Order: sequence, then structure tokens, then C-alpha cells
Amino acid sequence: MNPEWKIETIAIQGGYEPKSGEPRILPIIQSTTFKYDSAEHVTKLFDLEVPGYFYTRLANPTTDGFETKIAQMEKGVGALATSSGQAATTLAILNICNSGQHVVTASTLYGGTYNLFAVTFPKMGIEVTFVDPEASAEEIKKAFRPNTRCLFAETIGNPGLNILDFEKFSAIANEMQTPLIIDNTFGTPYLCRPFEHGAHIIIHSATKYIDGHATSVGGVIVDGGTFDWTCGRFPDLVEPDISYHGLEYVKTFGPMAYIIKARVQLMRDLGTTPAPLNSFLFNLGLETLPLRMQRHSENALAVATFLENHPLVSWVCYPGLASHPTYDRALKYLPKGCSGVLTFGIKGGAEAGRKFMEATRLVALVVHVGDARSCVLHPASTTHRQLSEEQLKSCGVPPDLIRLSVGIEDAGDIIADIDQALYVSQK
Ligand code: PLP
Repeated sequence: MNPEWKIETIAIQGGYEPKSGEPRILPIIQSTTFKYDSAEHVTKLFDLEVPGYFYTRLANPTTDGFETKIAQMEKGVGALATSSGQAATTLAILNICNSGQHVVTASTLYGGTYNLFAVTFPKMGIEVTFVDPEASAEEIKKAFRPNTRCLFAETIGNPGLNILDFEKFSAIANEMQTPLIIDNTFGTPYLCRPFEHGAHIIIHSATKYIDGHATSVGGVIVDGGTFDWTCGRFPDLVEPDISYHGLEYVKTFGPMAYIIKARVQLMRDLGTTPAPLNSFLFNLGLETLPLRMQRHSENALAVATFLENHPLVSWVCYPGLASHPTYDRALKYLPKGCSGVLTFGIKGGAEAGRKFMEATRLVALVVHVGDARSCVLHPASTTHRQLSEEQLKSCGVPPDLIRLSVGIEDAGDIIADIDQALYVSQK
């Protein structure tokens, strides 16, 4: 790949470079295993002395194409694709955080991540402290303990849509000698490049904008290669790994230590592997990601502006609107747009909200965002329904909130559908 290429070119040409006579398009290698002529070759593969594939749980050429491309788009040193976004978050943290250790996270999170942190990780002996991302650096630092092993946050909080103060979070992470892990699902590598703002590790739910067509569940972890794992707090990356006949990750792989450990240790043991077909679809999705994100963002801004002036709407939350509390950060960190996701409050409260969701025709009621098709959801009764009222508040999800994921259809058609549904909702 030409290092000068812009992201639009990498999205099309990156990841896979066919040799003469090979398929032009990244092929789907739907094979669990790979054949070799010599035992010596297989031994070298197992010892990680030569690159290659031996079993699809650990690596697969189609998945490799997707991983290489997303790493190039995020400007990281390597990536590991997973079977879901949840698997990506789980592996990203377990790779550096053991039972008895601790995570600090922004509280404005996707509901599934909130549950993982609030319920499942504590059952595994990993404690998690939630902090208000708008709190001062001093306040947030108070949440850290000697055993804290990472700081976690979303680029655009789902569904509160607060843009992260990267400057503050990366300064805290550096001072506390903990990597900053960013969920860039809504940001996408086209709209926001967290490594340029101090993140060390990025995760995505590839299910959303990366796929973009609502076909596949998947995730990916990208390593920025910049965290100093030799700082004395991450012995698992520095000392010999007894489960891999004494492999020393930092010594052997330098800046790729984290992502290689995640693959050869955690993916080996936990097996949250994507299907090659899904990796093919994620790669295809990446090809049009820049174009789609431009259109999603333009359409969402048009819809948000329309809603802001609508008599049946009490409030609108979209970081691309000047009225949004983190608008300045949107200009700074997401100058190309703020994605297709916005939220609003409907006059008439929860009952009108329910009627609205049933009255839209083009905009579909689905549990999803990031699809090319526009969709609508009431988080408090769906994705966030396991959370208590207190937890809902802490996640930034008032009960009357309606979430729209604005698609790439004609903006006028989307607005007309929303407008008619707003009037139906009041009957
Ligand atoms: N992160 C964010 C911001 C999400 O919105 C989601 C799912 O909606 C996830 C992570 C989890 O991803 P997945 O559904 O692919 O497991």
C-alpha cells in the first residue's frame, strides 16, 4: 500500500494486493484449515516464525484482508477481527486486564457494553468504575486505583451522542499509565481517527457502519502500536507466556505485541472468530464507507435541522447542530460529519413516541443503527431496557428519547416520512 494514499483510496485498494493471475476481489476462503507439504513449515507457523494460516479460528486470508484494511484506515499497526462488537470489547480488555484488576470507563455507553462492565466483568473478578465523561480530569483521576489497567470510552456515546473530549481522556490515560481504549463504532475511521487524538486501542462493532447493509454481526480491535507495555504494569505482555512455550510478546513483536497476544492467546482460547463470509462483507462495506458516511452525515444534519424547527418536537440532540453541548468537539474531532445517528424528544412523551415508531413507513422500527436504510428505536424499552432508571440517567437515556439512524435515502423522502409520523403520533 502507498503510505500517501488518502482514506478513500485505502478503503478501495487497501488490505488485499492480488498477485498476477489471482482474484481481483478479496476472495471468500471458506475453509477451516490449510494444507502444507512439510511438517517443518507447520512447526514454523505454530512458532510464529513465518506468517501464514493453519486454522481459521486464528487467522484466515479473507479475514486478514479485512483486518489489514481497517488497520490501514485507522492508521494502526494491526487488527484482529471478532465475531461481534461485544467480543471485540471483551477481548480488548481481557488482553490487558486480569481478575483482581480494574477498568475506568466513561458512563455514556452502548447498553450492551454497560451490562458487560456492570455485571459480567465483575463476575469475572474485574471491577469497573463508571465516570461522567464531562467531569474534570481531577475527578476522573480519582476513580483510578493502583490496579487500574485501562480507560475506556466511546467516540460518540450511544445513544447520548456526546463527543468525547479526547484531549482530556488521553492526557489522563498517559498520566495514569493506562491505555485509552476507544469504541469508534459511530465515529468510523472515515469521520474520526482516534489514534490521532491519543487513543492506544480502537474497537468497532463492524455490525454497524462498517458492514453498512445490516447483513452481518462482527467486530474488530485495532492496535495503534504506541502504548509502552514495558512501563512495569503489564507483565503479561513482557514476561514469558507459559501458555505459548515462553513467548515474550514485546520482545518478539515490538509495537504489535498487544494485537498479536490478543490473537494467539485470547482468540486461540476464547474462539470468538468471524466467519470468512462476514469478513468478506465487512471488507466490501469498507469500500463504500467514506461515501456512505458523507451521505449519512449530510442527511442526519438535514433531519436534525428539520426536527429542531418542528412544533411537535421538544428537543433534538445531534452533535452536528450548533445547539449540541459538544458541538465544538464535533468540529475539532469529526470535521467531516457526525454520522447518521441522532435523538429527539417527541411532544406527548412515551405514548406519542410509541405511536410515532408505529407510524413511520420508510423509517423502519429495528434494533439497529448504521444501516443504509433509515431506522428508529426507543432505547429505554429495547436496547437499554435491562438498566435501572438510575443507570439510564447515567447513560444519558431519558425515557422519552427516540433514536433515529438516518440512512442514505433521499433526505426529502426521509423528512416527509418523519413529518407525517409526528402528526399521526398526536392522535
Ligand atoms: N459498541 C457500540 C457503540 C454499539 O452500538 C454496539 C451495538 O449496538 C456494540 C458496541 C456491540 O456490537 P455488536 O452488536 O456487534 O456486538
